[in-house]
Amino acid sequence: MEDTPAIWRTFLTQLRDNLALAVIAVLILAAALLTDVDPMIATILWAMALGTAVFRTARAVPEVIQAKTDAVAIPAAAPLETTDDIIDALDMPIVVLAEDASIVSQNRAAERSFGPVSAGLHVSARWRSPGILDMIRETITTGEPNQIEHSERLPSERVYIVRIGPIRRRNDGGDARLFLLSFRDISDLRRLDRMRSDFVANASHELRTPLASLRGFLETLQGPARNDPKAQERFIGIMLEQANRMSRLVDDLLSLSRLELKAHIAPDERVDLVPLLGHVRDSLMPLAGDLDVDIRLHLPEGKVEVVGDRDELVQVFENLIENACKYGQEGKTVDVYLRSGAESPVEVSVIDQGPGIPAEHVPRLTERFYRVSATDSRSKKGTGLGLAIVKHILTRHRARLIIKSEIDKGTEFTVRF
Ligand code: ADP
Repeated sequence: MEDTPAIWRTFLTQLRDNLALAVIAVLILAAALLTDVDPMIATILWAMALGTAVFRTARAVPEVIQAKTDAVAIPAAAPLETTDDIIDALDMPIVVLAEDASIVSQNRAAERSFGPVSAGLHVSARWRSPGILDMIRETITTGEPNQIEHSERLPSERVYIVRIGPIRRRNDGGDARLFLLSFRDISDLRRLDRMRSDFVANASHELRTPLASLRGFLETLQGPARNDPKAQERFIGIMLEQANRMSRLVDDLLSLSRLELKAHIAPDERVDLVPLLGHVRDSLMPLAGDLDVDIRLHLPEGKVEVVGDRDELVQVFENLIENACKYGQEGKTVDVYLRSGAESPVEVSVIDQGPGIPAEHVPRLTERFYRVSATDSRSKKGTGLGLAIVKHILTRHRARLIIKSEIDKGTEFTVRF
């Protein structure tokens, strides 16, 4: 297509040259009429010049048109020799059906997802879903593409957009009509949707509870407790506690959303974990004192540096050590070990001697709002977001959180950089 202007330029040059010839012919004729040249010779000369002009232009036109057609007619959808290989390389399951709804072939992704199949098998022997079969029947009858949403339970729960459309055949495919059945996997999208709506529902629920309690106390203060200073004092105390709970929750939610925004930006500071852990311990001393827990640091000599974001790492260890103090309170001690070796990764372990966590809860602890006991967590001023924040920060730091717990023995949270 880029050649089109060039072709037109050539055409115009031709036309201009030929026009020049035509003008010369007219001039010859005029000269012949004004002078004494034999009108016969003048007419022959004039006819020759004009004829050449017309002939050359007429010859140029089809050449230009042909050149233009050649330039434009790039085969836009030339059949590819390797179409089968390309379809095989796609990670979307694809099945080709014949007009009688029997399976002609399938790609490797289809084989991986739904198992091998022999050609000629009717599609209903493979998919029994009435939705899929009705859709296939309709497309074979009408020739119009169709799609539906379809869920598979086995071997694992998957949701697909199943689409069928006729295959337009370009080469010597014969007259047989073929149809393409494709499966677009939207399970991850669905899971994300569910997570998002669960999250909104959980966050609203967490905020609504203290809000309802605040409103209840305010109504009591306006009504029955209007003239009861003792009740007023007590209720105001509870209201303050509920307001603090809401503000902790909002802080944690904001913290999570800030972390999500910068999830893909790797931190680049060098942080020495030795003074950092000392600082975390100092900041938790009042809480540990209230709970009668002793936080013991086991630090190596010298510096232990990692690449990270100092404030975020403080948040990680504050959360882990605070949890160990709160939930492992009865063990009376929390041990924090910092290990690093030339060949081994830097690790920080926070170990308590508390009641431990039942195994079935361990894999879900870092989910937002997941708590072993909601009442226990609330009574300990938890929001259910602490470990979710820890996990987000560690993902950004390319570090892992390893949780080991034994009932009646205690729990160990290890951060491996
Ligand atoms: P919370 O704000 O409830 O503390 P977290 O996300 O920090 O939320 O922790 C989630 C849950 O994990 C807690 O509610 C608690 O049930 C459990 N948990 C966390 N740390 C410990 C621990 N050291 N010992 C026992 N259970 C723990």
